[in-house]
Amino acid sequence: MITRWRGFTTPKRLCEALNDIFRMNSLKKRVFIIKSSDLVGEMTAKTILKMGNPVLREIAELVSDPTAPEITELVQDMRDSLLAVGGVGLAAPQIGVSKRLVIFEVPADRAESEDGAEAEAVPPTVLINPVIEPLTEERKLGWEGCLSVPGLRGVVPRYTHIRYSGLDLAGNPIEVEAKGFHARVVQHECDHLDGILYPERMTNLQYLVYESEVPAFMEGLAAEKSAAE
Ligand SMILES: [Zn+2]
Repeated sequence: MITRWRGFTTPKRLCEALNDIFRMNSLKKRVFIIKSSDLVGEMTAKTILKMGNPVLREIAELVSDPTAPEITELVQDMRDSLLAVGGVGLAAPQIGVSKRLVIFEVPADRAESEDGAEAEAVPPTVLINPVIEPLTEERKLGWEGCLSVPGLRGVVPRYTHIRYSGLDLAGNPIEVEAKGFHARVVQHECDHLDGILYPERMTNLQYLVYESEVPAFMEGLAAEKSAAE
């Protein structure tokens, strides 16, 4: 995996790889499909903590009872918070609750733009006390953003095939195999439960850029590519 990253030794190969995975249908502009159930009741969007807040550094606590009212309320707050800002996933620590719970979804268009023929749309999912098991050594580079690191985008290596398990809100076991963008989202969100933000997973910080500079960044890579040819 790291080997794969280091394998992009020429600007040409790296540029090609990044172009393949670069889809700036940015997370911020992504609009969730709002279901009627989302519109019932009062919105409880919370402030999303940003990098530097100590809660984001903590190892989050296991959820002892997924069916407890406080957990139902937590999930509603997280859904409202995600809906308010747009995004594909959120971890409880990002709204200041250091518990092992994440929510995510992969819209069909996003899955297709990231994974092409292997597209895998995932409905809104609540995952409690998650455990991730990589099913391959292979990691692939992909752009990530994070609501706790606003304005930035980074190229991050992630396992391409994982199995994750945990519990749903009713306390039923979940066990799912995930590939591609689905696997990436789950790894990103679950990292939050161990106090890890995506820049810490990056192997080359030259690929941590402001979102507004991404077009210029890609042009720069293209120029390096043609110079190398
Ligand atoms: Zn994040």
